[in-house]
Amino acid sequence: IKIKLRIFKFGGASVKDADGVKNLYKVLSQTGYKDTIILVSAMGKMTNSFEELVNFYFNDNSKTLIHLKSIKNFHQNIINSLFDKNKESVTLSLKNNLYELEKFFNESNSKNYSFVYDQVVSYGEILSTTIIFSYLKIKGLDISFLDARKCIKTDNYYRDSNLDWDLTVKKIKKQIKKGRSYVTQGFIGSDNKGNTTTLGREGSDYSASIFAYSLDAKDVTIWKDVPGVLNADPRFFSDTTLLTNISYSEAIELAFYGASVIHPKTLQPLQRKDIPLYVKSFLNPNMNGTTVSREIKIKPMIPCFIIKPNQTLLKLSSLDFSFIVEKNISEIFELLDKFQMKVDMIQNSAISFSVCVNNKYGRLRDLVKQLNTKFKVEVNENVDLHTVRHFDQKAIDKIKNNGKKILLEQRTNQVVQFVTI
Ligand code: ASP
Ligand code: MG
Repeated sequence: IKIKLRIFKFGGASVKDADGVKNLYKVLSQTGYKDTIILVSAMGKMTNSFEELVNFYFNDNSKTLIHLKSIKNFHQNIINSLFDKNKESVTLSLKNNLYELEKFFNESNSKNYSFVYDQVVSYGEILSTTIIFSYLKIKGLDISFLDARKCIKTDNYYRDSNLDWDLTVKKIKKQIKKGRSYVTQGFIGSDNKGNTTTLGREGSDYSASIFAYSLDAKDVTIWKDVPGVLNADPRFFSDTTLLTNISYSEAIELAFYGASVIHPKTLQPLQRKDIPLYVKSFLNPNMNGTTVSREIKIKPMIPCFIIKPNQTLLKLSSLDFSFIVEKNISEIFELLDKFQMKVDMIQNSAISFSVCVNNKYGRLRDLVKQLNTKFKVEVNENVDLHTVRHFDQKAIDKIKNNGKKILLEQRTNQVVQFVTI
């Protein structure tokens, strides 16, 4: 018989403290852990904390070591609550890892922020998996530790690297022995020089999907602090409904419009190989959660609400009352690309062109300066982009009556979008 592996992914929220790690073990005891690859993210908000560390290193270096100390304490406290007699060896690996990191800070003279970022931020995943692996071993699980950087091979576009699929599939097949279980990291990989790379924030879902694709896995489970994929983000909506089933393409659409449950790059590799994805609650591992697969488009069929807060709306018109035509539009897009604006929505009329963008890299001022040389530019910052898939009148009213001013509206068959302020 052919053994089919399962892939489990535990995000930062699931291992934010010692209880989270204990709960991870509990989930494994309930679901079984044989033939499973367990990918784990950095603990809690540690990725943000490592990002701050990089920031200190470049901009306020006197604070670097103090901040590193607080990161150390965070992990040490978790170790102290998880282990008693046997805490020496895991404490030692914490120390060794942080010693290496300090050494990197002392010896590196790289001015490449993104390169340094990846070398540093990846320690969040290294530390979490080191601690969790030791804990599972002590609990008696027959499991191996895998450094994901041996498997996930990328280019050197640091902070958002692109996968070398062929090489990665080869490496994964070589590293993973059927019949064994592993703990490894999400999010991190390495380039052809052996430098650490990362797949972009929240990229560990994508890592899970890469392992699944490469191994023709049976399924992937993403363990979350919500019961599954909901029809709206509970941070913004008080009444939400669990979607028990969605198709890959529905999930891709939801992710595309900004639903933050599943990282957008995760779905296509799974769809190619027809590998089902389960999104489940780590607090109720026996509940079904959401199944993402080929068959069912969406169940129940209800409106899905997605909000992207803090976007920017730009409205451009010509300086001389001429029409906005192809040439202007192509110029506009060139500039949007140059200044790394992620475009959420566009709308044009004869004399104006509106575009809602995500000013992710903080380059709005420079963009507007350039645009101003050619167009009249109206800028609205801090707008919200609302998207409703499978909308009905009630859903539209809900957004229209939320007390905000609507700046732009756009409708297609399945989707209505509003930009509000
Ligand atoms: N730890 C990384 C992040 O927080 C990757 C992930 O959690 O998916 O962005
Ligand atoms: Mg995380």
